[in-house]
Amino acid sequence: MKRSTFWAVVISGSLAIVAILLLVSTLGRPGEEDIRLTSMLFVAFGTLGVALPLYLDARRIQSEHKRSTGKTRRSLVSPCSICGADTGNLWCIVHSIRICPDCIPRHHDTARCLYKPVFILPPKGRTISERRSRPVSSYTTN
Ligand SMILES: [Zn+2]
Ligand SMILES: [Zn+2]
Repeated sequence: MKRSTFWAVVISGSLAIVAILLLVSTLGRPGEEDIRLTSMLFVAFGTLGVALPLYLDARRIQSEHKRSTGKTRRSLVSPCSICGADTGNLWCIVHSIRICPDCIPRHHDTARCLYKPVFILPPKGRTISERRSRPVSSYTTN
């Protein structure tokens, strides 16, 4: 959370609390409609002042997270065939599916399953993307 968001929430929150207390103190007392209306207004603005900075901060964090995962992880990792988590970096040769470490206990068949990593760290001078972008069919057709 950003410092400005924190202070906006603290100030707006305490404003709302003071306004609520003021509102409660006028209950059951006739002739204080002005105070009641004003405190209602401050309750409304106070809660808005809490919600809005939190919302904006959450959106900012969300977009930052999306940007970072898009760049670093999506290019290296494929989704698991069982649960869909994007850590499916093991390949079951027998069943031809991609699974993540969490799903091995659910999938594993002791007699048959054989695993290999979906990608292997490249030898020096080659990048992972070069190896992965090469079409698999070229091995079989040529
Ligand atoms: Zn999984
Ligand atoms: Zn298997």
